[in-house]
Amino acid sequence: MHLNKSLASDAQLYEILRRELGRQRNKLEMIASENFVSEAILEAGASVFTNKYAEGYPDRRYYGGCEYADEIEAITQARAKKLFGAEHVNVQPHCGSSANMAAYFSVLNPGDAILGMDLAHGGHLTHGASASFSGKLFKCHFYGVAKDTELIDYNQVAQVAEAVKPKLIVAGGSSYPRIIDFQKFRQIADRCKAVLMVDMAHFAGLVAAGLYPSPVPAAEIVTTTTHKTLRGPRGGLIFCRKYLAKSVDDQVFPGVQGGPLMHIIAAKAAALGEALEADFIDYQRQVLKNAKRLATNLTDAGFRLVSGGTDTHLLLIDLKPSGITGHTAQVALDKAGITANKNTVPFEKERYSVASGLRLGTPALTSRGMLEPDIDQVSEFIIEALRNTEDDARLRKIGLRVEEFTKKFPLYADLL
Ligand SMILES: *Cc1c(COP(=O)(O)O)cnc(C)c1O
Repeated sequence: MHLNKSLASDAQLYEILRRELGRQRNKLEMIASENFVSEAILEAGASVFTNKYAEGYPDRRYYGGCEYADEIEAITQARAKKLFGAEHVNVQPHCGSSANMAAYFSVLNPGDAILGMDLAHGGHLTHGASASFSGKLFKCHFYGVAKDTELIDYNQVAQVAEAVKPKLIVAGGSSYPRIIDFQKFRQIADRCKAVLMVDMAHFAGLVAAGLYPSPVPAAEIVTTTTHKTLRGPRGGLIFCRKYLAKSVDDQVFPGVQGGPLMHIIAAKAAALGEALEADFIDYQRQVLKNAKRLATNLTDAGFRLVSGGTDTHLLLIDLKPSGITGHTAQVALDKAGITANKNTVPFEKERYSVASGLRLGTPALTSRGMLEPDIDQVSEFIIEALRNTEDDARLRKIGLRVEEFTKKFPLYADLL
């Protein structure tokens, strides 16, 4: 494949890349925000467009030689709008966080009040956490889930919104396993005259496939990453109503970013092209079936899932009843060849670096071709590891079985 010969001349770099490819091949990737792109997307992302400066937008660039950059960006925009039925899109954000930053700046001034989901309840850093630019620049207020159901408490959202009169409400999150009611958020935003922004970073692929309600009709602004369920290169997109188009574009460039990553925009075009194919829906359906099967298996084995299960590609185990922490679980799974991440659970009492939960997702395993019977095997690996977190020898043995198991699901067979 294309990376092969040229990289071999840098032995150090080649070796690291070779080992990373081996890691991806020989382990079970269950980080809910990760996925495996197609080789076409890999190639587009490694293409000669990496050489091109194209500040500005199609037909309005600050540099010469942008005729093909214009074509690529226009195609990416057209595909994104078609896939999500949006009035306007900006395809330049380098990541989800810069998409959110530009989106905020398009309707907010520093010091304005925003209302987002509490990080510990499933929100994202950029939704107002004090460690993020959002928490530093804006007056941030939070809503969360109800203690009994662990579902978003829409009455509480409405109460906080009435009390603090935010200029913008953010819906969406990183570890909320259930479907969000965007119409309810719309009503709440209307009542306090707030702009509604939905950050669909995690579930955009499900939305594209029609398996999760689209936020586009309800929200003035919708942001997303392109590398999670959408299965594209690392990057971001911002969708918005026509009246916000200029403001959003101005805040992406020159507001937040400089030159767009044209090679990544090319890779976004490739990914959006794939997402418009019929078999993308089959893929997303399987992601959901696999997540449901994993949830059932874990529940049957006695683990407690936050909200009791999942409607999406991810689930969150509350490990408190199992007597181990998220950190312990993550380390043990790693030794067993399973990659996942510790996560806070609603009403968390541990520090973020310890955490009481473990987040698991099925997008990447599904991209490798795994079906429900394979998920049964994966579940057995996970359950055995979580029950033996202190037994290193046993964890290593699971790791060897995992490596053998992954051989049935070849990954990037032509690479390196
Ligand atoms: C992942 C994520 C982001 C940030 O994406 P980056 O590309 O890592 O900056 C933003 N919002 C939500 C809800 C996410 O899950």
